[in-house]
Amino acid sequence: MKLAVDLHSHSGYAGGVGQIELTAVSKTMKLKGIDIFGTGDCIFPPRTEELKQELTEVSEGLFALPRDDSKFLLQTEVIFSTKLAHKKNKTIAHHIILFPGFESIYEMQLLMNKWGMKNTIGRPFITSDTQKEMEDQLFEIRNIHPLIEIIPAHVMTPDGIFGSKNDLVELSEFYGSFLPSVKAIETGLSADPKMLEKIPDLAKLTFISNSDCHSAALNRIGREFTILDVEQVDYKSIIYAIRQNNVIMTAEFNPAEGRYFLTGHRADRKGHTHELIFANKIPEKLICPVCYKKMNLGVRERSTQLKIDSIIPIPRKFMHLIPLIEVIAASQNLKSITSKRVREIFDIIMNIFPSEIALWQSDSIQVMLDKRVDQKTINQILAVKKGDFIFQPPGFDGTYGKLIIGDN
Ligand SMILES: [Zn+2]
Ligand SMILES: [Zn+2]
Repeated sequence: MKLAVDLHSHSGYAGGVGQIELTAVSKTMKLKGIDIFGTGDCIFPPRTEELKQELTEVSEGLFALPRDDSKFLLQTEVIFSTKLAHKKNKTIAHHIILFPGFESIYEMQLLMNKWGMKNTIGRPFITSDTQKEMEDQLFEIRNIHPLIEIIPAHVMTPDGIFGSKNDLVELSEFYGSFLPSVKAIETGLSADPKMLEKIPDLAKLTFISNSDCHSAALNRIGREFTILDVEQVDYKSIIYAIRQNNVIMTAEFNPAEGRYFLTGHRADRKGHTHELIFANKIPEKLICPVCYKKMNLGVRERSTQLKIDSIIPIPRKFMHLIPLIEVIAASQNLKSITSKRVREIFDIIMNIFPSEIALWQSDSIQVMLDKRVDQKTINQILAVKKGDFIFQPPGFDGTYGKLIIGDN
């Protein structure tokens, strides 16, 4: 059975975004066609209580609002920070953790207390002084429940396990004997399966894709997602599908859109009057020739450093996508996705297709939308479906790439 999942998000507690209502999330999930959504921030006590009050378990390990069929899975992101013996700086890596129920979340909170970790923000830190200590922490989390899943998040970004700041070559440097328990990674917005499939330590793992969104907006939820092949709709089947790589496909950003794709410095940085992007020759030691500060190595360069050409990749189906609401806005030369015209067109399309994912998977977009939606918008939807779009300039230094669809 096919299940569209988006298993990494954040709530208002992750900072700077204000309250995000689960009812609003559920509404967007239905329009997008996301079946299962990761709640975000589930181990932060006020968030845990909120989720516990609002959601009811509808099948083992999956939760829903009253009289609503959108399903939620209990999920958080944590930041592991440790000191590896052979590294000068601390190694920091973001991870998604999936929980089978509230009981295991309460046990996780007890562990946080025991370790003396501040659990006062949506995305907490778990710090340790040595690799061994962190390895023990990972095992202690996993020992709460055999179905807890720990997944390295956005692996190639500066805060990901293989990010340029950490400069790791092998995952075992970080995980030690916990490594066999790592079954999957999240590709992140700045990388796609093509960029990761020849990296030795990743080649055999499951790749999943999630939105990592901090908003219920139509261009955020499900901007990346995974379609799993599951036995039935419950938490256990989702975890088995992830562990056994029963991934039908992932939908990905074009990596050039991601904010860390290329190496460079933005124009608004101190000491800069213009932006600098290094597409080919990266300056030595990553020192910016304008402000003399160190730059983050772009994800493209970093993945090239790690990959080994002789690896034969396992086949992985994926497509590059842009959220439909953004395609419509671009086709109407409108900047805002909240403009009335853009939303009207979106609603017309949603009356024709059951969801946005159904639209992207359809082979009869032209026929179905003909004469009901303007041809320019149809053309741009078809162009995106074919992958006929670029980002110029590409993403760099925390800035998203700028979209150009088809010949526009
Ligand atoms: Zn993160
Ligand atoms: Zn600079």
